[in-house]
Amino acid sequence: MELTLAILKPSAIERCLVGEIISRIQKKGLIIAGMKMMQLDEKILREHYAHLVDKPFFPSIVKSMTASPVVVMALKGVDAVKVYREMTGVTNGRNAAPGTLRGDLCMSGQANIVHASDTPENGKIEVARFFKPEEIFDWMPADKEFYYGDDEFRQ
Ligand code: ADP
Repeated sequence: MELTLAILKPSAIERCLVGEIISRIQKKGLIIAGMKMMQLDEKILREHYAHLVDKPFFPSIVKSMTASPVVVMALKGVDAVKVYREMTGVTNGRNAAPGTLRGDLCMSGQANIVHASDTPENGKIEVARFFKPEEIFDWMPADKEFYYGDDEFRQ
């Protein structure tokens, strides 16, 4: 099964949206394989947002992502990266579709409450960036046959 990285950004922490976001993730059926609170710094953000380091707004990203601790989660599931990315919605909350986390819960392109890995390869890289191996738990719900059919579960 795939792993994908979720970050509940300072805009989610400060606005008390953590419970709502985790509730939606769990109701969907994504499995929380790892979860912790941490304070990000510029070093890890330069790695995580390497594709944006040269943009003029990068200092503003650092400011907003370090404004409070964040909650990081490793989510597990069949096609977890695609499923959670679609749940997240497009970057700017004002353009994100209703029903998505950003579409329902934020009004900003920067303070957009959550991060989602964009490819399975990046899912692995990003989970490894934020979690030690022993912080990822290899568990499945006891009633897993109610989450997936037999054929899907083998993927
Ligand atoms: P996404 O988070 O949807 O994958 P990107 O990887 O393009 O989007 O950007 C990473 C994050 O950087 C965004 O979620 C947002 O918080 C911030 N960001 C992106 N573009 C801008 C911008 N033009 N101005 C300010 N912040 C931005």
